[in-house]
Amino acid sequence: MGNTRNWFADVSENRRRRFLASQRDGVAIDVNGHALINFASNDYLGLSTHPAVCMAAQAACAHAVGSGASRLVSGDDPMLHRLEAKLADWKGYEACLIVGSGMLANLGLLQALADRHTHVFADKLNHASLVDGARLSGAKTHRYAHLDAAFLEKQLHQYPAEKRIIVSDGVFSMDGDCADLSTLMALAEAHDTLLLIDDAHGTGTLGENGKGLTTVHHIAGHARLIEVGTFGKAFGSYGAFILGTHELIEGLRQRQRTMIYSTALPPAMIAAAETALLLIQRGEQLKQLHRNLVHFKAGVLKLGFTASDTAIQPLVIGEDADALAMSARLVEHGFFVSAIRPPTVPEGTARLRFTLSAVHSIEQIDQLIACLSLMHDTQRESKTFATNDTNEHELKTKIL
Ligand SMILES: *Cc1c(COP(=O)(O)O)cnc(C)c1O
Repeated sequence: MGNTRNWFADVSENRRRRFLASQRDGVAIDVNGHALINFASNDYLGLSTHPAVCMAAQAACAHAVGSGASRLVSGDDPMLHRLEAKLADWKGYEACLIVGSGMLANLGLLQALADRHTHVFADKLNHASLVDGARLSGAKTHRYAHLDAAFLEKQLHQYPAEKRIIVSDGVFSMDGDCADLSTLMALAEAHDTLLLIDDAHGTGTLGENGKGLTTVHHIAGHARLIEVGTFGKAFGSYGAFILGTHELIEGLRQRQRTMIYSTALPPAMIAAAETALLLIQRGEQLKQLHRNLVHFKAGVLKLGFTASDTAIQPLVIGEDADALAMSARLVEHGFFVSAIRPPTVPEGTARLRFTLSAVHSIEQIDQLIACLSLMHDTQRESKTFATNDTNEHELKTKIL
């Protein structure tokens, strides 16, 4: 087996993930020469292509592109400290630490917080970065059924230990539903544990001023709470941040290996995130996003979407092939939507994951709703999205 050509021979052909080279411009996306409207991006506020954000990045690039070293060596740009202070202040925490990405934040954070004597209690649908962080730490992990607080409470009674951490996404990335953070905090209090909330999708899109789910539940800044956010989604940039008490953040400065042993963020990304924060605080894009969400949800009421109050609107299809066929049809009609399949989501729950953005126009949303309604009616007649007369593979290769 000492050959790179057959090393991954077990990757099954029908589960293969495809990379689609694509060019974006606002919500327009060009995929292999097809001009589509993008409903598959986490750029919820349209800030990744906002002129002010782009200009801030360009200005920072005039001086340097790379940061040259990790933060503890010589890559500790003063902009990082300024942005950390602004983020802590905005979100209502004592302190903040900026790291390379959300994935690196969670891998390093859990590794720093936990060891084999620590017990981690994790929602079954948590993001992969939280799952892998717990694994890397060597902690004993107990996964509870999605959003099942009663189950979690049982586990907390069952597994006493000195150091315990409840870990959850805020907004869940594949379902768009939200953890009940008030209940999680009450359990953390009752059982004397830490609470780690990764609100990658809620930051910038939920709550007063887009402050996110911890603000909605009035728990931001709590001494038991650690919050993670990313610049890769609503901020439209790249990088991530961890919020907590002074002591926690200082501990992470000493122990967070994914920060210590990795090159600091490029200045352009820091500058872009700082400008994005200013725009988020002004709130114009968030208003647009909510307007679009209300409009979209009213339009798809009868189309079988999973109830979600966030910018993530899933339509569970079931079989992988049906989800792929439907996304291919949508491409034919000018819409780019991602089909999410196992193992990213549980078997038999392949879905289309629509994401709304502040920069979609009402007309674009109406066009999508009209298209989905038509497909829905056709499906009711033929009982399935994958019609027999269309060779699905052919359709896909023709379009993509
Ligand atoms: C996207 C996401 C991440 C990863 O963030 P990146 O900055 O893209 O690495 C982490 N956690 C959750 C819940 C996410 O949705």
